[in-house]
Amino acid sequence: MAERQKTIKQAVSVSGKGLHTGQHGSITFHPAPENHGIKFRRIDVDQHPVIDAVIGNVISTDRGTTLGVNGVRIYTIEHLLASLTGLGIDNVLIDIDMEEIPIMDGSSYFFIEALEKAGIQTQEAEKRILVIKEKVEFEIPEKKIKVTIEPAEKLSFSVEIDYETKVLGKQFATLDNMADFKNEIAPCRTFVFLHELEFLLNNNLVKGGNINNAIVFVNKLVSQDELDRLSKLFNKPSVEVKEIGILNNIDLYFKNEPARHKLLDLIGDLTLLGMNIQGHVKAERPGHYTNTQFAKLLDQKYLS
Ligand SMILES: [Zn+2]
Repeated sequence: MAERQKTIKQAVSVSGKGLHTGQHGSITFHPAPENHGIKFRRIDVDQHPVIDAVIGNVISTDRGTTLGVNGVRIYTIEHLLASLTGLGIDNVLIDIDMEEIPIMDGSSYFFIEALEKAGIQTQEAEKRILVIKEKVEFEIPEKKIKVTIEPAEKLSFSVEIDYETKVLGKQFATLDNMADFKNEIAPCRTFVFLHELEFLLNNNLVKGGNINNAIVFVNKLVSQDELDRLSKLFNKPSVEVKEIGILNNIDLYFKNEPARHKLLDLIGDLTLLGMNIQGHVKAERPGHYTNTQFAKLLDQKYLS
């Protein structure tokens, strides 16, 4: 029997801070009718403009995926979109009173929790499914980036990351069944290298970061002076580097949590196709630019 579309049973809200903007605000998920898709509505802007979560509305992939229409933007949509796809939700209207989705703990966990609290409602209409008939590939050889999709019985993912740094190593993550998303992928948090974080902090580019919402990898020697400065920046009594090369802000949930988070981002970005996909997705060193370029390629090939 064909799978049916899904929405939520009642409205539910989540509040928190935006990582890049530092703004505090709320999002509210509302049930939506069949074939509505996923849409955002900026309720803090005159006339409450609606922005469809579709690939054509992506305006930036710099440190997160940003949608924009007529100058109205929504930053950092990927973890929220992954939670919807992870739960099989097709139709929802998301009110937001600021220009960035709250970062929460840097994963999809809090969105999943809220959506499950609202309850999932199965609708009458059949899900729209993009069945992959032949291999599609996107590659940036000089950056060792490659994403492919091949025909398969159902949707599955495998991700490999290798930044040629000892502290992270080569990591793999797979997802063979979307039913495992909630436990295996959703809690996996975003990560950053310390030198990138210092650059972002020094240039005032992460205003909502308190380093409880990212795993910080340290791939160089750090002096005590620097650690003291970091503890001030992060508003923590002390900062130290753990043996395995991560800052003492958090413990890893999984050894390959970074690779799992890249898989989470990939699911979030591919949600912008506005279709469920049937095929096996394999990604090497994926990022938001790669993910969205790949989604555009699929969109042009199959949906335009
Ligand atoms: Zn992410």
